[in-house]
Amino acid sequence: MSRTLIIGGGIVGSCTAYFLAEHAEVVVLEKDPTYQYASTTLSAASIRTQFSLPQNVRMSLFGASFLEAMAERAGLIRRAYLVLATQQGEATLRANRDMQLAEGAEVALFESDHIAQRFPWLNAQDLTCATLGLKHEGWFDAYSLLRAVRSDAIQKGARYLHDEAVAIETTAGRATSVRTASGERFTADHIVIAAGPASGRVAALAGIPLPIEPRKRTAFMIRAPLDGSNMPLVFDTSGMWIRPEGDGFICGISPTADNDPHPGTDFNPDMDLLEDPLWPLLAHRIPALEQLRVQRAWAGHYDQCLLDHNAVIGPYPDIPNLIIASGFSGHGVQHGPATGRAVSELIRFGAYQTLDLTPFGYQRIRDNKPMPESVVY
Ligand SMILES: Cc1cc2nc3c(=O)[nH]c(=O)nc-3n(C[C@H](O)[C@H](O)[C@H](O)COP(=O)(O)OP(=O)(O)OC[C@H]3O[C@@H](n4cnc5c(N)ncnc54)[C@H](O)[C@@H]3O)c2cc1C
Repeated sequence: MSRTLIIGGGIVGSCTAYFLAEHAEVVVLEKDPTYQYASTTLSAASIRTQFSLPQNVRMSLFGASFLEAMAERAGLIRRAYLVLATQQGEATLRANRDMQLAEGAEVALFESDHIAQRFPWLNAQDLTCATLGLKHEGWFDAYSLLRAVRSDAIQKGARYLHDEAVAIETTAGRATSVRTASGERFTADHIVIAAGPASGRVAALAGIPLPIEPRKRTAFMIRAPLDGSNMPLVFDTSGMWIRPEGDGFICGISPTADNDPHPGTDFNPDMDLLEDPLWPLLAHRIPALEQLRVQRAWAGHYDQCLLDHNAVIGPYPDIPNLIIASGFSGHGVQHGPATGRAVSELIRFGAYQTLDLTPFGYQRIRDNKPMPESVVY
């Protein structure tokens, strides 16, 4: 039986183990089994079909069916994303929806006069249209999902080891083994890099340039005099997002590109973002949020692909048995299942069998040809 070594046991590494464990010997190296700083457990844990690239829609549709099968264990809440557009973004939103429908997603379109009728708590004055997912969208408990996938993978035969990869050895165009912080050396037929925000650093262990770096993102938990019981996740034209969580809400916004450095080991929430620009944007779009109260805030690291905010999935061309699965830049939990299945297909059959994820391959990094996903936040 061939052996696959997966570096990183977050949702991407664990989904890969889940789909592969019945067909190969699988060893997952995870340096922190508490997942205290993993992107997966610090995420907003939401899933949507509203992307601009068809491949991302397809991955979400599979993610949604995977979550449906784990609904109870993952605490799935079936709820929509509401994506807003002003005149400037209207044509793109309409074109995105046409593509999403063609891919099998179910997304409704609201013209400007119907937005305020349907969502009376929303200031729709400057909006020209909006799209709302009718199915396959929602949110869940990322930690519970990870625990469920990990324990199923173990039941199928995967082994998780508490250790850190510190060197990847290659010979004649093949990755042969991984050395760990505890002094072990594991040989493998395939090695998968699924180290989340640390994937660029891990790829460097094999001498591979991979533009994936951590970028800090802060989520705020707030209370406000607003009934969120039927509210969708609102994705504003400004990049601000908010969704219900328990009897309050969570919300956030990315910092501007010129204020988004490599965070190192900094996981302190960026409280300044709340005063400017987040709160004014929230209050503009949802006037009831003028009176919000902050309950707490946390920060996690995006596994940011610096080329185009899209994942890098597939073999490194010069070392074909070294497979990269990372760089999701804010949408990796929902795409973990599709990625895990795809990577397991590459390892078992040498080619994708279900979803063709070739466009996410390393070649676009080498050619410096971005494949941008525009619906990101
Ligand atoms: C605030 C925030 C909100 C987000 N919201 C969403 C959302 O709503 N929906 C969504 O789909 N995605 C969201 N994301 C993005 C998502 O969390 C990530 O894309 C996804 O979790 C990546 O999963 P991963 O398994 O690759 O990484 P991780 O979960 O980070 O797992 C990687 C693992 O690798 C381990 N590791 C690292 N280096 C080594 C090494 N050398 N040896 C051994 N182990 C190693 C780490 O300890 C870690 O556990 C959000 C992220 C953040 C930060």
